[in-house]
Amino acid sequence: MCLDLYGQVYVETDMRAYMNPTRMEVIRMATEKLVRKAQSLCPSCQLPGFDVVALQEGLPCSLCHTPTHSILYLVKGCTHCGHFQYDYFPKQQQTAGPETCPRCNP
Ligand SMILES: [Zn+2]
Ligand SMILES: [Zn+2]
Repeated sequence: MCLDLYGQVYVETDMRAYMNPTRMEVIRMATEKLVRKAQSLCPSCQLPGFDVVALQEGLPCSLCHTPTHSILYLVKGCTHCGHFQYDYFPKQQQTAGPETCPRCNP
């Protein structure tokens, strides 16, 4: 798993306030960046185009376990056969730092 990808997404989405109306646009741009970087074959139909289609926020804070705006997982989908899968962080990356937590660091 490419940690560089996650780092980039995290920075771009976390800069914006949660309810900011431009947030979806930011996520779309981040997704497009990921799509360009992560062209891959669908594990189901073997055609290229199995790419990130959505980002889910909510990585829990490492101190209080409150969901933060950091990316919890990516959703990758195939445009050909509709196959999709969730792409989680590696085990050691499944919590967010308290500096990103709305409760520890409002
Ligand atoms: Zn497919
Ligand atoms: Zn916290």
